[in-house]
Amino acid sequence: MTTPRCPICQDSGFKDHSGFAMDPCDHQVQPPQPLPILLQPATDWTGQTIEQRLEECAAALTIHGLLSQAAHQRTLDCIRARGNFQREQHATLAERTTNDG
Ligand SMILES: [Zn+2]
Repeated sequence: MTTPRCPICQDSGFKDHSGFAMDPCDHQVQPPQPLPILLQPATDWTGQTIEQRLEECAAALTIHGLLSQAAHQRTLDCIRARGNFQREQHATLAERTTNDG
């Protein structure tokens, strides 16, 4: 028993053995196709603050056409305003803690 040279048709010359249509095989193995973008693991999403991640989310939504440029800018303004507010709160708390200690 020999190993077939074509992994697609096992050297039969036809791609589909079970279907009604028999497609001729050209024995050309296609390179693996990249995963559709939404199914790819988001491995680059590490080591970020929630603020940075929200900004990346807004950018991604805009790139994928789910957010208009104007809505993207409004979203970024809102994220930054909240971030600045929380930075001020954090600084005030830290200052209070330092003065009390
Ligand atoms: Zn083949």
